[in-house]
Amino acid sequence: MTKYQGKGVYGAIAIGRISVFRRQDVQVKRIKIDNADQELSRLKAAKEKAAAQLQEIYEKALQEVGEANAQIFEIHMMMIEDDDYNDAITEMIRGQNVNAEYAVAATSDNFAEMFSSMEDSYMQARAADIHDISNRIIACLSGCDKERSISSEKAVICADDLAPSETVALDKDKVLAFVTSFGSSNSHTAILARNMNIPAIIGLGNTFLDRIEDGAIAIADGFNGTFIVEPDEKTLSEYRERQREEEEKKKLLQELKGKENITLDGRTISIFANIGSADNIGAVLTSDAGGIGLFRSEFLYLENTDYPTEEEQFAIYKRVLESMAPKKVIIRTLDIGADKQVDYFHLEKEENPAMGLRAIRLCLSHPDIFRVQLRALYRASVYGRLGIMFPMITSTSELEEILSLCSQVRQELDAEKIAYSDSIELGIMIETPAAALISDRLAPMVDFFSVGTNDLTQYTLACDRQNPHIERFCDTHHEAVLRLIEMSAKNAHRHGAWIGICGELAADTALTEAFLRMGIDELSVSPAFVLKVRAAVRKIDLSKQ
Ligand code: PEP
Ligand code: MG
Repeated sequence: MTKYQGKGVYGAIAIGRISVFRRQDVQVKRIKIDNADQELSRLKAAKEKAAAQLQEIYEKALQEVGEANAQIFEIHMMMIEDDDYNDAITEMIRGQNVNAEYAVAATSDNFAEMFSSMEDSYMQARAADIHDISNRIIACLSGCDKERSISSEKAVICADDLAPSETVALDKDKVLAFVTSFGSSNSHTAILARNMNIPAIIGLGNTFLDRIEDGAIAIADGFNGTFIVEPDEKTLSEYRERQREEEEKKKLLQELKGKENITLDGRTISIFANIGSADNIGAVLTSDAGGIGLFRSEFLYLENTDYPTEEEQFAIYKRVLESMAPKKVIIRTLDIGADKQVDYFHLEKEENPAMGLRAIRLCLSHPDIFRVQLRALYRASVYGRLGIMFPMITSTSELEEILSLCSQVRQELDAEKIAYSDSIELGIMIETPAAALISDRLAPMVDFFSVGTNDLTQYTLACDRQNPHIERFCDTHHEAVLRLIEMSAKNAHRHGAWIGICGELAADTALTEAFLRMGIDELSVSPAFVLKVRAAVRKIDLSKQ
């Protein structure tokens, strides 16, 4: 038995035989040609064939992973037609009298290098796409374009890495798991695996493929990223039992897809999902969540090495809104500080960072940074249904300052004749005792509250959420916290605002009934917990005391 440790990107367990996915890489040679026209017509035919294959893959992806995720193949089809790309290939064939395969490969390398050196992380990721389409054209040119087949049995697919098109082209019914030597959890392949509900493990290291063999029995544990080859009988039966339990749980929950979040006595509640990156949208869509209740936008800043520009932010917010439309998306403005530190902010070291310059305090102290985010959000608002939420509020004066900045941004956009939606909802997080205690004053100023129970618990109970030694004093069901939530709910409703909970407590089904009784309108949880909470709601009868 050999154990490998990688990173699980989709939590599920698979047991089966390994099928090593070896790419039939075509060796591209530089060959002198004497008839450039003939070479260009070969190229034209190959491109048409590649485009037809991509159309087929796009349609397959549309069925299996939805429009937002299938879009990548539409982009690939457009890339094949890109003028700059095609001009570069044609020039090379004519100017250097080289074969089409070589011209495509060389252009692919040049373009990929150019994309990789761009600042924008979205553009950097396009380098993989340019290689993907170029390899497809080269395969069509050299007649090696048959889609790679895997064994007729269902198998655990082990590869160095998988391009998005390779992932989708594989017959999903024959894939038990994806296990790769490389890859990142935000790659399109990881997203596709999540959306296909297939266990996936990445990052097993560059010697991984040399150490495994086709046909060997393996266990892929997508929960913790463990991959076990030739397990002993005991491990195998333990995993079989866990797999059976997981399947049972999943099956029961899947039956709830498309069903209402309704109690036995007819009260409905919204169940939304929390995300930290635009790449989590696939999981939200498959979770059947009613919308996104918390997009932690600070991860955008944390993933970058410099301040994300207005354009970069706009592109991401637009993508999230478009993918989710017409469902609502609540984007929380930057919550940097405390445990979320970003080097390029050059923040001074603080004695008590959780009580320091974090979240809205940082934004109000640096309105230049805040304005960039607000402008990007307002501009993106026309692409869907947007709510903007402000973290760590403690006073009405902070909120007045925020609302005035929002109004300045709207005036600027008006002057620049840039459109924004007039139905954006503005809300605040209730995550300090101060905000809950003055919720009667805050509610008339906003459209909604969203309770951040992680911080509300930390600040109410004076319990550092980062400190594992005080966990036993940190009672998440503490009456003080629950009373503050109830008080906020009453005040929200009294002033016509709605209230949700987006902290971890929202997924605690021991409290679902209590939250419903308080009048909470929305619970926002990790995508994986949406159906679990729906199941809890549907068992509650509020007419019984
Ligand atoms: C919270 O505090 O409950 C919350 C949702 O925000 P974060 O966990 O990002 O601080
Ligand atoms: Mg918080």
